[in-house]
Amino acid sequence: MAQCVTAGFISGLSFQHLTSWRTDRSNRGAFWLMGWTATLALLFGVNAVLPLLPSGPAAGAALFTRSQLLAAAVLLALPAVRSFTRGRAIRPYVVVAGSLFGVRALLWLATDLVSAHTAVHGVPQYGPLLLATFFVPAGVVAWYVASSTLRMPATQARYTLQVAGSLSVLGLLAAYLVPRGHVAELATAVWAVPLVAALQGMHVLRARATARRLVSQRELREALAGVGTAAWFATDRLELLALAETAAREQLGDPSMTGAMLALPGGRFETRFDASPDQGLTPDAAASDFLDDLGEIVSVAAERMRLAEHLRAAAFTDALTLLPNRHALELHLARALERAATDGTALAVLYCDIDGFKQVNDQHGHSWGDELLRRTAGHVSPHPSEDHFAARFGGDEFVVVREDVRSRDDLVRLAHRIRSELDLTGTDQIAPLISVGVAIWEPGDSTTPEVLLRQADTAMFEGKRTRLGVVVFDDVLRAQMVAEQNLRGELEDAMTRGEFEMYFQPIVDSSTLEIVSTEALVRWHHPDGLRMPDEWLPFAEETGLIVPIGRHLVRAARSGSRRLGLPVAVNIAARQLAEPGFVAGLREDWGDADWDLLTLEITETALLQDLDHVIESLTTLRGLGVRVSIDDFGTGYSSFARLAKLPVDVLKIDQAFVRDLGEPGGVAVVRAIISLAQAYELDIIAEGVERADQLDALVGLGVPQLQGYLLGRPTSSHSLPVVLSSASFGGTDGRIELVAPREPVRRGSSA
Ligand code: C2E
Ligand code: CA
Ligand code: CA
Repeated sequence: MAQCVTAGFISGLSFQHLTSWRTDRSNRGAFWLMGWTATLALLFGVNAVLPLLPSGPAAGAALFTRSQLLAAAVLLALPAVRSFTRGRAIRPYVVVAGSLFGVRALLWLATDLVSAHTAVHGVPQYGPLLLATFFVPAGVVAWYVASSTLRMPATQARYTLQVAGSLSVLGLLAAYLVPRGHVAELATAVWAVPLVAALQGMHVLRARATARRLVSQRELREALAGVGTAAWFATDRLELLALAETAAREQLGDPSMTGAMLALPGGRFETRFDASPDQGLTPDAAASDFLDDLGEIVSVAAERMRLAEHLRAAAFTDALTLLPNRHALELHLARALERAATDGTALAVLYCDIDGFKQVNDQHGHSWGDELLRRTAGHVSPHPSEDHFAARFGGDEFVVVREDVRSRDDLVRLAHRIRSELDLTGTDQIAPLISVGVAIWEPGDSTTPEVLLRQADTAMFEGKRTRLGVVVFDDVLRAQMVAEQNLRGELEDAMTRGEFEMYFQPIVDSSTLEIVSTEALVRWHHPDGLRMPDEWLPFAEETGLIVPIGRHLVRAARSGSRRLGLPVAVNIAARQLAEPGFVAGLREDWGDADWDLLTLEITETALLQDLDHVIESLTTLRGLGVRVSIDDFGTGYSSFARLAKLPVDVLKIDQAFVRDLGEPGGVAVVRAIISLAQAYELDIIAEGVERADQLDALVGLGVPQLQGYLLGRPTSSHSLPVVLSSASFGGTDGRIELVAPREPVRRGSSA
């Protein structure tokens, strides 16, 4: 009866292991337990039916089967126990015990040494080796079980297994050794129960632990995902570290858990989470993986944040001077204006520009130019007693924003410090001056940041123009700014409306007074009246409008020259000459023929700008037959030797020298200019000849060509006769009588 109950109980367990093995094929423990319990169940089943069998071959076969099942149950205990204790390898034990059981089975079948193959009153009789052949291999297995449970960590599970194992061994011993009777019967029935129950208990506990671990692993993964998401949006690495630390504490239930972030070279980070060594729990493998992953997430996010910070900083920083750049200035100014409006305070913008920076850059090289910009950046940055924002606006322009302006004097003092105190000690250079334009915003002004900057720029420009250096934007400049804006619009319209007209002034041969060529001079027929070039040309040049206007004028000069049948000299502004497409544009506008009829008049300052490019253009044009003339010679203070090396053909003596001919030393100056020009084989034209005494003096000095009101005023080509004669141009006061070309000159009596 007891055997039946045990068999039923154990086969139930076996069935349970079968299901758990089927759901998880990798669960070797469940597999071996299933095999082991199935064997035991069969064993007890056979035990139960054995007393019912009559003595004979059936009972003999059942006895043999029982003996083999017992051997198998003992052998299967090896893998079943191992899967719980994770003890050493079982193979040698299986081989030894298995072979011994094999020998026992052979002896059982072939001899009477184990089984006598008879029964006395229904009780089977055994041979002398019955116990020895069972207990020796069972001992080998028991040795393994005992030694591997002893190696287990000292836990409740180990003691349970040891106690249960000992009980089962005792039961087995009792089943064999105790004389037949109730105790022996009971022992035979239940010896395996303690071990099976213990293993089963452990199995259940382990399954629960696995389930718990799975749950907690999922929780850890979710916690990681949470921190990972937060990391994407985090902007502060320490905040993220704190968040991860909280997650680690909560997930591992260890309040002593702390995170530490280490900055490594190259913008990298390393983050570690550790429990306090004295009170913290030692994390298991899953927990330490979790902590590693957590550290990785935080480190990667910190690196990303740092990179983003760098990129952001670079977008707002000028790489050369490390000052905030134009973009940063615009943001700062907009915010500063908002603050000023809320607080009702005044704000000032100082626009600073290095005087003559371009020349310094050309003369001393770009590396010195860079150094000068860096020095200037330090110079405009706030000094210890100051409080302002400084940015590089672009090129050699810097902008200072001063908030909460209480006194104008302070502001002007700051502007003058910037203007004149640039310190270049340690270099052999002379510090340039800096022009500063100041624009002030006061509560109630509706000025936008852009307009404020433009005002300061205008004031700076005025400071340069007047050489005052520091100029505060005021109503006069405001009116000028408005006028310039209007002028710009009008100039743009003038071209489309055809308001520009070329006038032509004769240039005559001084020995014959015959007209040899003309100078084209532009006139603007503004709706309000005639506008002379000095009124608007500088502005057109400054704004770049001179480029399209200039091309238009070349076309007008060309058609005038055709009409008059005379060569023409066209004035070319520096800005036009510097245009990359200047030569190509000129070819287009002039028409690529009759190049010998064209002279370009260029001032010395324009000639010396962007030298390489200018020389290249002029050389090309001279190759075509164009003549180049230095206009206003002597006003630009440049070295004559330097000018003479340029590709030029003609030198125009400026009106100022002609005017000074009557003054003491005036003649000597002009004579010096003439001899220099002759030394360099340049033609000479004197302009601004207004009086007969000037004409006399210039003829006496041997100047070959002359131009001036005395010889003819600039006139519209339409009002000129198609075939010109010098007589067409009247003298101013009739004291000079001009003759037709190629006739001898009759000199006036004014001398
Ligand atoms: P500039 O090239 O020196 O031209 C000579 C200027 O002196 C002209 O003034 C002319 O009218 C004036 N002038 C001629 N003879 C006499 C004289 O005997 N006495 C006095 N006091 N003045 C005399 P304008 O036409 O007003 O031109 C002024 C400047 O504007 C020119 O000086 C030139 O630099 C510029 N300009 C004129 N037309 C053009 C042009 O088509 N293109 C460019 N880029 N500049 C031009
Ligand atoms: Ca000229
Ligand atoms: Ca001139």
